[in-house]
Amino acid sequence: MDTVTTIADLRQHVRAARGRGLRIGFVPTMGNLHAGHESLVALARERAGFVVASVFVNPTQFGPNEDFARYPRTPEQDAEKLARVGCDLLFLPDVATLYPLGTGRAVRMSVPGITEVLDGASRPGHFDGVATVVARLFNLVQPDLAVFGRNDYQQWLVVRALVADLGFPIDIVGAPIVREPGGLAMSSRNQYLDEAQRRQAQVLHATLQWMVGEVRTRPSAWRLIEEEAVARLGAAGFEPDYAVLRDAATLDLPDSGFPTGGVALLAARLAGVRLIDNLEFDRP
Ligand code: AMP
Repeated sequence: MDTVTTIADLRQHVRAARGRGLRIGFVPTMGNLHAGHESLVALARERAGFVVASVFVNPTQFGPNEDFARYPRTPEQDAEKLARVGCDLLFLPDVATLYPLGTGRAVRMSVPGITEVLDGASRPGHFDGVATVVARLFNLVQPDLAVFGRNDYQQWLVVRALVADLGFPIDIVGAPIVREPGGLAMSSRNQYLDEAQRRQAQVLHATLQWMVGEVRTRPSAWRLIEEEAVARLGAAGFEPDYAVLRDAATLDLPDSGFPTGGVALLAARLAGVRLIDNLEFDRP
């Protein structure tokens, strides 16, 4: 695996791969890689002849009181893991490379609607920051396909909207959620939790399973199920942000049922750490 930090070097490697007739697969990350990220690279590997991963902690997607400064940064370990799972090229830009005018003057993406609910409501500007960096990375790497984890379900929908609306010729692949044995979705933020808290956090996945079990048998009672889920999270020691049942394609309220399937999503704080998870389900 080669590592590049400049746009010129990135373009040269990608051009060479294209010259060899290879499809370019891309996996954007913020580093501190775990088995979830590795599964994305493996999926890209299956579908593309040349796999590019990026590691970049994107300042424009963090709010003023969020963990940008203390977000875990482990570049050496990340490079080792990526090489092991078959990544061909690691793009490791600094902030000035991705934002040459500075973040204050950067051209920004704004994706209305889908970015304003759920995590977008709790984290104003977060998804526009994600869309901004993803559009930049897509423009620099120019991949044929890009893989995103469905653990960040709303992010995945935002990226799909971005690509559909701007006409990026990129297939967006949604990868299944990789979980710890007890059901906790893998996340770089799990490191902020001690062992006991990680066990406690298994309640998140269990709550989603309960919600999906209930909505399958009584879909019109979705509001009651949401309320009960929030109460369960509170009783289990979490500060719940939301626990909801939504249309899987739009995140709209399921007032007319779940015609094309649904998704249970939740966000809750444990010991000050904000955790999210979701579980998709077929039309009940
Ligand atoms: P991050 O480094 O947190 O920005 O994540 C980079 C990519 O990895 C995103 O597309 C995430 O959705 C994905 N990802 C992170 N954790 C997991 C997981 N547990 N399972 C599947 N994909 C994941």
